[in-house]
Amino acid sequence: MVMKNQHPKIRSCDIIPLPAFRDNYIWLLRRDGAAAVVDPGDADVVDAALRQHGLRLDAILITHHHADHIGGVAELVQRHAPAVYGPADGNIPFVTHPVREGDQIALEALDIRFDVLEVPGHTATHIAYLAPWILFPGDTLFSGGCGRLLGGTASQLHESLQRLARLPGETRVYCAHEYTLANLDFARQSEPENAERERVRKECELLRAAGRPTLPTTIEREREINPFLRTHVDGVLRAVSAHAGTRPHNAGECFAALRAWKDVF
Ligand SMILES: [Zn+2]
Repeated sequence: MVMKNQHPKIRSCDIIPLPAFRDNYIWLLRRDGAAAVVDPGDADVVDAALRQHGLRLDAILITHHHADHIGGVAELVQRHAPAVYGPADGNIPFVTHPVREGDQIALEALDIRFDVLEVPGHTATHIAYLAPWILFPGDTLFSGGCGRLLGGTASQLHESLQRLARLPGETRVYCAHEYTLANLDFARQSEPENAERERVRKECELLRAAGRPTLPTTIEREREINPFLRTHVDGVLRAVSAHAGTRPHNAGECFAALRAWKDVF
């Protein structure tokens, strides 16, 4: 399935979801014969798509070191010798272009530039890639949820998510997992009253029933439905207080309690 970017401010590069493993998406960007992939956990999935669409792999963008995001990098490097962008992290081999906060990546053949954002929390060295109206957040932000703490702290993840929440609302968010419906189950517990979330949920149920991704989402949508971006909202504070048996003193404490609650949900 090919999603054309309909947004008037987005140039016409296609972004295609490649389902991998049980619930990962490897996002493939293509323009003319050129392609880049984000977090290729599985090389065969990427190769099949390259063959199907007649593409040459120019670049790999890596957000963090987990195996389901980098497992295919070695084989893809061997087969295609692409440029490999990623955080300077000893756990990530084959990076030809280590990048950090403030760096800009120009993928000339795709006619697109990304800013690198450091968004620690899920891991300590996690980064995200941002182009105008396009965000690849890796496992930092999901639709209706966020990544677990597997190396970073709750306060880091909270800050990273708040930063992403301040991006322009129409920014499309290409999350790395199809977790939306499960996340919205938890969201229902952590903010019982949210009509917009229930509306989105119905839409996502139909998409999944048709075998289609619920992604990309948008920053605007996530601000409205994602409890992890809503720890300042009274309904979330009340639910977290009731669950934890004590009222958090601020949004940061609320976030930490919410993340801990989700871990055992
Ligand atoms: Zn991860």
